[in-house]
Amino acid sequence: MSQQSVSDLKSFLINGEWVSNPTESFESINPATGEVNYRLSVATALHVDAAVASAKAAAALPSWKEMLPHVRAQILMRIAALIVERGDELAGLQMAENGKVWSECKAQAGSAAATFRYYAAVCETLGAEVTPSRGNYLSMTSYEPYGVVAAITPWNSPLTMEAQKVAPALAAGNAVILKPSEITPSAGLLLGEIALQAGLPPGILNVLTGNGAITGKSLVQHPGVRMVSFTGGTASGRAIGMMAAERLIPVALELGGKSPHIVFDDANLEAAVESIVGGIFEGSGQSCVAGSRLFVQSSVYDKLTALLVKRGQAIKLGLPDAPGSQMGPVSSFAHRTRIEQLVASAVAEGGQVLLGGQRPEGQEFEQGAYYLPTIVAGLDNQATAVREEIFGPVLCVLPFTDEADLIAQANDSAFGLASGIWTANYQRAWRVARALETGLVWINTYKQLSISTPFGGFKDSGIGREKGVTGLRLYQQSKGIYWSMDPDNFPVAATASTES
Ligand code: NAD
Repeated sequence: MSQQSVSDLKSFLINGEWVSNPTESFESINPATGEVNYRLSVATALHVDAAVASAKAAAALPSWKEMLPHVRAQILMRIAALIVERGDELAGLQMAENGKVWSECKAQAGSAAATFRYYAAVCETLGAEVTPSRGNYLSMTSYEPYGVVAAITPWNSPLTMEAQKVAPALAAGNAVILKPSEITPSAGLLLGEIALQAGLPPGILNVLTGNGAITGKSLVQHPGVRMVSFTGGTASGRAIGMMAAERLIPVALELGGKSPHIVFDDANLEAAVESIVGGIFEGSGQSCVAGSRLFVQSSVYDKLTALLVKRGQAIKLGLPDAPGSQMGPVSSFAHRTRIEQLVASAVAEGGQVLLGGQRPEGQEFEQGAYYLPTIVAGLDNQATAVREEIFGPVLCVLPFTDEADLIAQANDSAFGLASGIWTANYQRAWRVARALETGLVWINTYKQLSISTPFGGFKDSGIGREKGVTGLRLYQQSKGIYWSMDPDNFPVAATASTES
């Protein structure tokens, strides 16, 4: 892992050049130790201007605009290969900035490479369409890039989130300006370096560091940006959606969640417990699809909660790079304070803490932003901790009586990202999966993800779908082309033939 000294000021990437801002900078803090990793430059509105100008110019050059899909695919494949080659470096940067354990960071670096490979294949094989015509003409649909796309990402999984946006947006023929979270800026910077190394023309991927209020907002409001792809919190997503509406540009919003994980009384309880624990405590609960509301059928409620508490006690908390660590710190000290406030609200509203509910004891945890795996019972579906996304290692357990009660409770949420169902009854699994208002449903499993399956949320969890072929089309606009085959080239359609 390439660690710079604290006095180094990391630069950002515009038009293939590394640019720094010596007058405005911010710190990257390691949440496992509280130490400063390094300082980074803030990209201001002027830098955003320069980045958009360079992206616009690069996207218009024939060398990019007319690059054949199979050639573009080769660049994406080279990026994938370099991500594999530099996987430890990428994983190390993410681990130092968001505190996720080494095994998860490594797996995410592998997943980022796989995403570039997948979109290389889609880029090379995806066709346009000839559609049925209503006369002596050929009607076609072609797909064209927007031009300059802004990709804005959160801190919880920068490696995968950034690949998920940058790879399809490039495959679709755009130039991209990536603005990683101010908490996890380095993986994006290294991706910029890798893209240049792989032969991506300068300006086609620019990477700007800084916060949402200055760098992010300037980017979304810039007239040269023609599409915004955002992953992050619902409040920021709403603010970005409003700015985009003003500008009449499309947005894709992948937002927060409060996903129900559901256990019926006929389920394999041991398997369900493993899945529930992984679904909420992996990554210290900092996953948009974390199964943070657990609904258990009343007849197995006591048995399941007892198994769960026992399994939760066995989770090994530790430094992210210590062998055997299963859970590291949360991403920042400010975030831990918010988690603590939400757990306090749960207790004030009548919740009983069955597990955790506090910081861990021990010298190795003193300097870091650690919080114990926490299980709270006794709340109803209206409690603050059940309604708000905590985005930490906190599970709220609620009982339900029957299928109708479960569906009513599970759907009574502003969010609709994911859900999980545990049952041995396949008809019920189907009925409940169809009734849940979520963009993803797992049945007798949880958190399985494939790059080929569209991903996104219902309700306040977002707009648009990433991943899959849909995830490439997200970065293109369709164009209908009508081409007369009549030797006389009839000038305009007669009224009778214009009905659609
Ligand atoms: P956040 O919304 O605070 O920030 C996300 C990014 O947006 C950052 O880069 C930030 O600088 C930028 N930003 C913030 N306000 C902005 C504005 N007004 N204009 C432009 N840019 C702005 O989110 P976070 O705290 O970094 O991440 C956690 C959130 O992300 C959680 O709510 C989580 O559920 C969500 N998330 C969703 C998914 C998904 O796919 N649905 C995946 C991962 C994380």
